[in-house]
Amino acid sequence: GAGEAEVLPVLVVLAKAEGNPGLRAKAEAALRSLVRFGKLGPRQALALHLLTDAPSRGPGKALLRDTLRDAPFKYTVVFHDVEVLTEKLRPVVEEMQKLFSAGAGTYYSDPIFFLSVAMHRVMPREISRIIQVDLDVEYRANIRELFEEFDNFPEGAVIGIAREMQPVYRHIFWQYRKEHPGTPVGDPPPGGRPGFNSGVLLLNLEAMRHSDLYNGLLEAAAVRRLAEKFHFRGHLGDQDFFTLAGMEHPELFHTLDCTWNRQLCTWWRDHGYSEVFDQYYRCDGHVKIYHGNCNTPIPQE
Ligand code: UDP
Ligand code: MN
Repeated sequence: GAGEAEVLPVLVVLAKAEGNPGLRAKAEAALRSLVRFGKLGPRQALALHLLTDAPSRGPGKALLRDTLRDAPFKYTVVFHDVEVLTEKLRPVVEEMQKLFSAGAGTYYSDPIFFLSVAMHRVMPREISRIIQVDLDVEYRANIRELFEEFDNFPEGAVIGIAREMQPVYRHIFWQYRKEHPGTPVGDPPPGGRPGFNSGVLLLNLEAMRHSDLYNGLLEAAAVRRLAEKFHFRGHLGDQDFFTLAGMEHPELFHTLDCTWNRQLCTWWRDHGYSEVFDQYYRCDGHVKIYHGNCNTPIPQE
């Protein structure tokens, strides 16, 4: 109402940070650059949602204290427990865990790596939209501009997400592509559908709650049906689900420009895809968020 500030919610995950100085250094660089490029109006406030496991809570709080101290804008901090959210998520994402992770105990096998797909079920009703961002990123633009992208969602879209910038889904959709010559599935842009990367996510929670189509796709049977149709077995957690859902129902997604999630990993260039790699990797324009995925260093300013 009148007199209240407009709140801009941003969610980050910091887990298993104890004994992982590399992760903590990345998180610090991410938050420092967010603060440095962040300019909000006098009636706006950032709400930083930090999702941690118990051992990471201390380091996480210290990190926020050090990086937000000199923020030139209003902010609040909200803490969430990985353990609590994991129990809420478990039944929703059980099927996805089987299909979109390399196996029990592996990197993306934990329910928390599927948090974003069911964010609308675990966040309080009052939160109508939230931006989830990885911590292996650096900002080169004002995060407020990213919130303005919510206004560009077409009718029916529930999530804003940038495309995946390596041919990983060309690889995974190999059998489907063989059986469907000429399909755009797994092809590079601009004409193709390379899949999505979940490093930067605009989650319109209100739209996610209201979309029968989206909620139907979360059902175990629907997830199984889609995976079978596309002969899909993944290992990248939430982004596997978004990629698969987007092949069948592209209208659910607003595709962000590549400059909002400029991924830097080049692993697939050297693993059989050197010929086509650059068609996926190319991204023109001023980078607004660098994403140093697969531990790739981020270029200095
Ligand atoms: N993450 C974490 N602890 C870990 C690994 C990952 O908290 O041990 C969080 C962190 O926010 C990270 C995100 O999960 O940015 C996704 O993982 P990562 O960025 O390493 O994956 P990639 O982008 O390389 O696929
Ligand atoms: Mn990342």
